Amino acid sequence: MRHLIAALALTALGFAPWAQAQQDFSKVEIRAEKLNDTTWMLVGAGGNIGLSVGEDAVFMIDDQFAPLVPRIKAAIARITPKPVQFVMNTHFHFDHTGGNEAFGKEGAWIVAHDNVRRRMSSDQVMSFIGARQPSSAKSALPVITVAGSISFHINGDEVHAFHVPNAHTDGDLIVHFRKSDIVHMGDVYFNGFYPFIDFGSGGSADGVIAAVDRVLALATDKTKIIPGHGPLANKADLQAYRDLLATVTQRIKTLRAEGRSDAQIRDAKPAADFDARYGGGFIKPEQFVQMMLGAITK
Ligand SMILES: [Zn+2]
Repeated sequence: MRHLIAALALTALGFAPWAQAQQDFSKVEIRAEKLNDTTWMLVGAGGNIGLSVGEDAVFMIDDQFAPLVPRIKAAIARITPKPVQFVMNTHFHFDHTGGNEAFGKEGAWIVAHDNVRRRMSSDQVMSFIGARQPSSAKSALPVITVAGSISFHINGDEVHAFHVPNAHTDGDLIVHFRKSDIVHMGDVYFNGFYPFIDFGSGGSADGVIAAVDRVLALATDKTKIIPGHGPLANKADLQAYRDLLATVTQRIKTLRAEGRSDAQIRDAKPAADFDARYGGGFIKPEQFVQMMLGAITK
């Protein structure tokens, strides 16, 4: 019930930034940022793309929106003449899986967590942001699904993807390029602004914090971290994000333990000191606290 009220409240605010019908892709450019000899980050609209290119395969992480596929392919063609052989999805959201159908039809093997295939096989509602995602065509569905972890031994690297439970959703994979010292975190990490945690699809604040801790444990001061949204990051950026989430989570839990209602917790503004740094994204300060009330489950 709390979730439903949250969704209605945000609908009243006109808050539906990811509603597909409202997006205009005509001006979007796909920009490729080279991270090392075999690894790129592609930035356009929707989730950031990771790309491994080398002697063995073209391996892509996430594929944004269907209308951008020709521009994504053009950006890849400036790097390599080879077709995309593997697409890995960090989670099921449509701004990360919209290109699946086209790449799947062209023969790419789509890889994701078990719950990504399960969710993409039926209609989904992201209750908090009031967005709907209809079930996907067969060629868009992952054909290789993972419960725990999987490694790809390609392009001179070990590309190790591991599941982090109940974080941004219930089907997140984090991808670690072990030799390159690069990590793609999907939407477990939004760099520079308040995150969306899809608690209606199995996500949770504690799960995001635990997932961030796993990356902090494997990262060095030189690790390049690709967030789901926002610019390329480093370990210090990720540590600051962890501090934000852990601090606000603890404050809300303390207020709840004192018996405060959700309305009283909102009035207490438990994230106020973070608003200047993180409140300028698509989750506004008042929406962030409301979302955290849904994402903090115990
Ligand atoms: Zn997402």
